[in-house]
Amino acid sequence: MPTWSHELPPSAKHNGFDLKRTPADRPLRAIVTSETFHVCFTHFWGGRTVPCERPDCEACANQSPARAHCYLSAMDPATRDHFLFECTAKAAVPFQDWLQTYKTLRGCLFQALRPKRRRNSPVEILCKPADLTKITLPLPPDVPLAMCVIWQLPGVAVQSDGALNSIPLTTVRSEVTDRMRFNPADCLPSAPKRNSNGSTP
Ligand SMILES: [Zn+2]
Repeated sequence: MPTWSHELPPSAKHNGFDLKRTPADRPLRAIVTSETFHVCFTHFWGGRTVPCERPDCEACANQSPARAHCYLSAMDPATRDHFLFECTAKAAVPFQDWLQTYKTLRGCLFQALRPKRRRNSPVEILCKPADLTKITLPLPPDVPLAMCVIWQLPGVAVQSDGALNSIPLTTVRSEVTDRMRFNPADCLPSAPKRNSNGSTP
């Protein structure tokens, strides 16, 4: 017998969130869905972006520079694609200014672009209020947890307990990631599957 329902099947795409950065050749426009952004220091290490695990960090021990990155969730109003957005702390200053005025980033329509149109060139972000009369924003994910999926860390490996200029600061607990590294079998049942492109040049 055929089975009918009124529910569309979940998209074939993975259940996690994609991580987007500002493209070189065109602006990225989206509406922030998270209340704020999260800051985490990262390295480009082993061919991909990984969170810094200071004070016990292999990348730091090898003199790899750590850079502060800012993460938030956002929705493309044209496609309704809900994703995680990453930019440098320097590029994120307009978000911080916005927070000081409006207290929440949710509903902030932003455009991010690279004026020099080169990969990894500086990003400029412009913010303005979104017209929310015709758009319903989805509920935001837990951004540090969603980043764990992208970084292939169990959720218990991160905690948001600090703040940088009142922005939640995510730290990585190296006792957990060490356990994964040295006893990976212990962590397998809860280890999220890699489901997005976590690498950067
Ligand atoms: Zn580090």
